[in-house]
Amino acid sequence: MRDQPFSELTRTTGTFVFAGQHEHRVVVSPVDGEHLQWVPWGKQASVRQAIAECQKGLRVKKSIRQRAEMLQRIAEQLILNRQELARIINAENGKPIEEAVSEVDYAIGFFRFYGEHVSVLSDRRLRAQPRGHEWTIRYRPAGIAGLIVPWNFPLAMLAKKLSAAIAGGTPCVLKPAEQTPLTSLALMHLLEKAAVPNAWVRWVLGDANMVGKLLCRHSAVRYISFTGSTRVGRILLQQTTERCKRLTLELGGNAPLIVCADANLERVVEHVMLNKFRCAGQTCVCINRIYAHRSIVAELSARLVAQVTTAGLVVPCGDWESKDSPRMGPLINRAGYAKVARHIEDAVAGGGRLVLGGVPLQTPGQDFGCFFPPTIVVDVDENALCTREETFGPFLPIISFEKDRQALSWANRTEFGLAAYVFSSSEARARKLISRLQFGHVGLNSATGPTPEAPFGGIKQSGFGREGGRDGLFEFVESQVIARDRHIPMS
Ligand code: NAP
Repeated sequence: MRDQPFSELTRTTGTFVFAGQHEHRVVVSPVDGEHLQWVPWGKQASVRQAIAECQKGLRVKKSIRQRAEMLQRIAEQLILNRQELARIINAENGKPIEEAVSEVDYAIGFFRFYGEHVSVLSDRRLRAQPRGHEWTIRYRPAGIAGLIVPWNFPLAMLAKKLSAAIAGGTPCVLKPAEQTPLTSLALMHLLEKAAVPNAWVRWVLGDANMVGKLLCRHSAVRYISFTGSTRVGRILLQQTTERCKRLTLELGGNAPLIVCADANLERVVEHVMLNKFRCAGQTCVCINRIYAHRSIVAELSARLVAQVTTAGLVVPCGDWESKDSPRMGPLINRAGYAKVARHIEDAVAGGGRLVLGGVPLQTPGQDFGCFFPPTIVVDVDENALCTREETFGPFLPIISFEKDRQALSWANRTEFGLAAYVFSSSEARARKLISRLQFGHVGLNSATGPTPEAPFGGIKQSGFGREGGRDGLFEFVESQVIARDRHIPMS
């Protein structure tokens, strides 16, 4: 167990954490396998009790102003505990500390933004009076919500959902990923400090299949907000059909980057560096495949190789927490490592030319220390595996194209529709491409991902529903319309 334990933030007791009978599981560092901390492992009874607590929460009403203040108090707690939260993310997820700090800042942005905009959920009356009636629209809690999040952003993915849930006054049962529950435990303690009503949030950890099934089938849970793989999204879709539950699905991606012949390559490389290697390439919006015009492939790949090499995104040795620590963490486990290796081997077998990195000779024998070097392969076939499946690792395949319409058709030829990026110096050309791209988020001369101020979400099999922006506030509420005949007097 850790010599230097975490602060009281990761205590496994507290108002929002189920503290009944349960087993325990140990959280393991993906960097070196160190045992970080034991956490409660709930059974069906834990989930049922969490739902029962949240049912009481439906009777706890807070005004718009009180909810706005609550969201700002949570943001302040996160700011006060910024470094400690980053340390916990770094320990259980493996991303470098500066990336973890950025994740905390990103999470703060959601609580701040919704604190400032929750008034859009105020009652509103229509100016027009159809049929001589007065029409009022109210936004009420959607019922108990089940929140299920992945390990790649253990704080931010939760913050997106929880901030909107609190804005809507919607109680929720939340389930973190098995690999990264400590950050969410820390958040629970900060919610307590921010005086969030104690029946509004319940934390449960347990067998994902069991928790998911119970949340989907329990009649009191009316809404499921899920971020994770398309495979699990499909399971949840099936499980919620019978009871007609609302769902928000933030699923997998396979982001194309289209680099036109007239693109500014210096800027392309700059943006690839910012986008691709965060969380070792394990983000839903990271570039999965580059389509570059044939005339610029050689220069682009040479620039990328030089930049990646200079950035020192190498496999580590030595002290992970020291100043000289590597700027890229490990893959989350062996299965993730094997998938990246498979995509590289397939790209090379299909005629691709390896220009940087490659599959390491030694495969990890365990689920920690799965470091993978940044890898670039050029002349990849347009039908390679990586063009169809999400790689989730630091592999950049470059595919050449002759005509813009060819790049467009290859970019769209996927079941995913989350993020895409286009670089060109011609406004007309870029606009034409973007209007035909089937993706929910598009970067124009940029590979930046989502921001709290704008709605984000996928189309096609990347899911539906939106998080962030004003749109995200409406996911956790349902509207009720009151049509009143004003001619009938009331006491
Ligand atoms: P995952 O396997 O789908 O797991 C995500 C969450 O679902 C975890 O909490 C997991 O619990 C839980 N889960 C697993 N099986 C379940 C089931 N049968 N019923 C209910 N819950 C279940 O995804 P992942 O591999 O952790 O995350 C990576 C994926 O998330 C990638 O595809 C990535 O693109 C996607 N993602 C999407 C977005 C977005 O905004 N669109 C953002 C981030 C990540 P356990 O951990 O206990 O198994």
